Amino acid sequence: MSGFGITGSNLVAGKERAGGPDTLRGVDPRTGKALEPAFHEATPDEIGDAVRAAGEAFEELRSWPDERRAALLRAVADAVESAGDQLVDLADRETALGTTPRLRGELARTTGQLRSFARLVEDGWYVEAIIDPGGNGVPDVRRMLIPLGPVGVFGASNFPLAFGVPGGDTASALAAGCPVVAKGHPSHPATSEACARAVLAGLAHVGAPAGTFSMVQGAGVEVGAALATAPEIRAIGFTGSLAGGRALHDLAAARPEPIPVFAEMGSINPVFVLPGAAAARGDAIADGYAASMIQGVGQFCTKPGVVFVPEGENGTRIAERIAEVLRSASGGPLLNERICATFRSGVEHLATLDGVAVLLRGAPNDDQGPLAGAPSLVLTDLDTYQRSPALAEEHFGPVSAVVTCPTDRLTEAARSVPGSLTATIQADEADRALAGRLQELLADRVGRMVYDGYPTGVAVVPAMHHGGPYPATTAPAHTSVGMTAIRRFMRPLAFQDAPAELLPPALVDANPLGILRLVDWTWTTDPIG
Ligand code: NAP
Repeated sequence: MSGFGITGSNLVAGKERAGGPDTLRGVDPRTGKALEPAFHEATPDEIGDAVRAAGEAFEELRSWPDERRAALLRAVADAVESAGDQLVDLADRETALGTTPRLRGELARTTGQLRSFARLVEDGWYVEAIIDPGGNGVPDVRRMLIPLGPVGVFGASNFPLAFGVPGGDTASALAAGCPVVAKGHPSHPATSEACARAVLAGLAHVGAPAGTFSMVQGAGVEVGAALATAPEIRAIGFTGSLAGGRALHDLAAARPEPIPVFAEMGSINPVFVLPGAAAARGDAIADGYAASMIQGVGQFCTKPGVVFVPEGENGTRIAERIAEVLRSASGGPLLNERICATFRSGVEHLATLDGVAVLLRGAPNDDQGPLAGAPSLVLTDLDTYQRSPALAEEHFGPVSAVVTCPTDRLTEAARSVPGSLTATIQADEADRALAGRLQELLADRVGRMVYDGYPTGVAVVPAMHHGGPYPATTAPAHTSVGMTAIRRFMRPLAFQDAPAELLPPALVDANPLGILRLVDWTWTTDPIG
């Protein structure tokens, strides 16, 4: 494989560091066999050097003008794109997600995110400039967002590129002017290292200070914990499990100086099929649901984990049809041993619950290796769902629950939904009033309402919100996808009666940056006076 040499070192402020034991290995999910090379776990000294260098880099990076930061993001995007063949091959070897369309698509999304943040930084509105010129005894107050400082980034196993080392958290932190110390994911250490080398190549191209980006590896919780508790780190961007996100959130909250943890975690992503839609297009809904729940072998944070269907013939038909489609689906290798073991024991547990019928219990296909996951589907009713917490928890992998529900109890079902990234409503014209009522209830519980579609697939656009109340995230006011993800790594600073020559360009009367600002309650790009 041509491209960057993979040495198994940590990359600390542009230097190879390999002081710790080389005990970390990637595993090929298709065979269960350990891959070469071995990776060195970061030592406390190496982590300390990475965060200190990030602190130093921040002093310079924070004052870079927007055009220079946009150039930085584009240079990183170009470098990731140039290394694309290697990144996709390594990621496929370590995740078995498949090169085309999946990992090629993820690569395009990763570079697209970086370039979208470059455009955002150039547009300038992300600083949320607000100017109240005062007068008559009221002070002149001007406010904008400034970068928080070095960010610790933790990617998830299931998106090795777009939510990995060069992913949305890194892109949005760099866009904000924050250096990044990323922790490579132990499930894909070679991909993490190659991605880090690509990021560093891009940064070198624009002369970014050495500590702007570092990558450390670790097989246990120690490296991540050291990063989250390092005094120089001012925020954490995390994508992964509820257990991991919660642990880091609690660690960060217990620091002498607590910092925010933007943890995007798992989700149940309920789908509601209303009676009109079930009658008019139940088969098509079932087909789409089955495809959505097994995409990426069910390893999406937006996988639909439960679907509420009308009690009666139409609902039963949908359940049977989903099972029928899944029966002919092949499943595939799951990402790692832990995810495979948790998936299998989760399905086992669902099958033993009182009131739950197993519609399909897929047998792992030996040809897909020791970590194979096969689609499974269970059927139950609303009463059982309400008294069985396991049915409302995320089961990562290709399993889902169909819950039959009388139409007049759908609002009860909506009330029982835990914090979730998404909720989906399948509704026809005749279902509109009920859909409106469900929307009111679900609005309190989810981050994105999807209509007549499926929750998998998250568009990277300025309006996107990928987040939601706990346990979907630890910070429901924020998103990890879309342009407003930058907001996580910035904080407001207000200037009261500041001399004009001390104001940052975004806040001076002449508006030299030409950005959109809220001046005296009016959105405008005009200068003042
Ligand atoms: P994970 O096991 O939580 O790992 C994520 C990262 O956190 C790894 O680097 C892991 O490293 C670290 N970590 C985990 N527990 C930790 C702890 N207690 N202390 C310090 N570091 C810790 O998650 P995953 O299995 O890779 O990802 C699958 C999960 O991610 C699913 O639940 C999925 O729904 C979710 N996900 C969410 C989104 C979203 O946008 N909401 C997107 C993709 C995936 P170590 O293992 O070395 O500790």
